[in-house]
Amino acid sequence: MNNTEFAQLGLAPALQENLASLGYQQMTPIQAQSLPLVLAGRDLIAKAKTGSGKTAAFGLGLLSRLDVGQLQVQSLILCPTRELADQVAQAIRQLARGLANVKLVTLCGGTPTAPQTATLGFGAHIVVGTPGRVLKHLEQGSLSLKALNTLVLDEADRMLDMGFGEDIGQVIRQTPPQRQTLLFSATYPDGIAQLSRGIQRDPVSVTVEALH
Ligand code: ADP
Ligand code: MG
Repeated sequence: MNNTEFAQLGLAPALQENLASLGYQQMTPIQAQSLPLVLAGRDLIAKAKTGSGKTAAFGLGLLSRLDVGQLQVQSLILCPTRELADQVAQAIRQLARGLANVKLVTLCGGTPTAPQTATLGFGAHIVVGTPGRVLKHLEQGSLSLKALNTLVLDEADRMLDMGFGEDIGQVIRQTPPQRQTLLFSATYPDGIAQLSRGIQRDPVSVTVEALH
């Protein structure tokens, strides 16, 4: 077995079956570098270009940690746009097939808040959303992050470029300090280093260069 086989990760059988049915045979470079660290609970700064397979790198981690019997938000994935949040949500749903009754809710701006509030009333395990709208639900009391174990910042550089830094900070202040924090970014400007210092504990950095 070489070190890009998913089989060596010891994932739940349902997750392994989903990977097989998705046609994922080998880990991509970012997955091979980051998944062992993610599954070991480390905080991570992962620098990798679009299309490198980052979603499964954090998705398999948060699904491995999920306790479906506990209907509380255990994973939060923040994304810069609604389009990206919808893509991530769809990918996580595919990875979660066969795990009984996983409830995933998307919370994005540019769409009415009331239906989201109603959906949250039925409970959720995983939230995927944009920072401003997630913060709005925290402020109005329709979302609690007290049971959060995994926080993912996807495309963190884009979120900072779009001015979400302040909202991200306010969301994170409402999460438990012992959470795992996974930061994914295509670039690593000063703002990302600063953000990491404020919210991560002893993070490991992994970088995957473009394949071209
Ligand atoms: P990124 O977030 O880095 O831009 P994605 O997570 O969206 O990348 O993945 C890009 C594409 O690669 C998706 O279509 C996804 O289904 C596919 N993919 C991810 N991991 C693997 C893998 N191990 N084997 C084959 N395809 C994969
Ligand atoms: Mg992505």
